[in-house]
Amino acid sequence: MRIERLARKGILAIAPYVAGKSIEEVQKEYGTKRWVKLASNENLLGPSPRAVKAIRRELPNIYLYPEGPCSVLRRTLAQRFSLPEKRVVISNGADNLILMIASAFLNEGDEVVMADPTFPVYTNATQIMGGKVVKVRLNDYTHDLEGMLKRVNRRTKLIFVCNPNNPTGTIVCQESFDRFLQRLPARVIVILDEAYGDFVEETSYPNGLEYVKSGKQMIVLRTFSKAYGLAGLRIGYALGREDLIDCLYQVRDPFPVHRLAQVAAVAALRDQKHAARSIQMVRAGRRYLYKELDKMGLSYVPSQANFVFIDFERDSEEIFKGLLREGIIIRPGKIWGYPTCARVTVGRMEDNRRFIKALHKVIG
Ligand SMILES: *Cc1c(COP(=O)(O)O)cnc(C)c1O
Repeated sequence: MRIERLARKGILAIAPYVAGKSIEEVQKEYGTKRWVKLASNENLLGPSPRAVKAIRRELPNIYLYPEGPCSVLRRTLAQRFSLPEKRVVISNGADNLILMIASAFLNEGDEVVMADPTFPVYTNATQIMGGKVVKVRLNDYTHDLEGMLKRVNRRTKLIFVCNPNNPTGTIVCQESFDRFLQRLPARVIVILDEAYGDFVEETSYPNGLEYVKSGKQMIVLRTFSKAYGLAGLRIGYALGREDLIDCLYQVRDPFPVHRLAQVAAVAALRDQKHAARSIQMVRAGRRYLYKELDKMGLSYVPSQANFVFIDFERDSEEIFKGLLREGIIIRPGKIWGYPTCARVTVGRMEDNRRFIKALHKVIG
């Protein structure tokens, strides 16, 4: 039987997710170097030492199934945010939560409005469920909330707002977001992705937690992959109104988060010093990069996240390859429709300096 007739409708047409190049991958072509990966917005300070210690302590227990609901972490998060535990759900990464949201809420043909470009997993999850992706081009690298509202119709079920937006690092401010929420019809659920919320400095930034507390029809996504440095463990969470979170539990795997990730996340949350140091590193690193890019006459989008979107005003694929020869991995912008741009993760000061030095060499 032909696979087209066996596979679920539409899934063969889904474009696979393109991840940043891993060190393992580039090493094959460019050899062993002291690699710096600035391609996937990881925390270059690494994990909290307390998280590593917690994992060591937990290792002998990995023959036991993990605790399904992640009760200790859920309680810790609920207390931290002063929320009832029923408004918190934890899973193996925000990516998985996005898939759970699509499974829980999308019927075939439902429409999902999102920015273009934004985090590509929204598209994949929508298409897996047979939903229709409605993309609204960014306006000056920022969500065009007015434009998104115009595309809402009777079939719209979900709206994704990635704040700060990946890959541009821009935010929507509280005032325009509130105006946007007021004008949305009651049947639309807003998914507010705050994967990079920890790095925001702008005071006009809306805090998703406040909307959850006021019972808005919204799900807020957060992750331990970025500021908390646990990307390799796969753990993230969603906050939302109880009935919405209940639906996510309906589609949740019984044991999505393994034992090591659970203990590490609890330990990482308790090590606020490490988190604060990571956030400070990113904020200082952004300022350093702006200063150096200004000196080079390169333009960039001022960022509220742990990456900077740079416009090289020439094919960024060439710059990407040149930097690989120098042992630095960045993310060229072609996949997002910006072939002259690239997204560069902010690392430790020594990483940022190495990037700038290599960039001088590559650009000439
Ligand atoms: C990294 C990222 C996520 C995914 O986080 P994980 O918890 O690692 O799956 C979600 N949303 C955005 C916008 C991201 O950049």
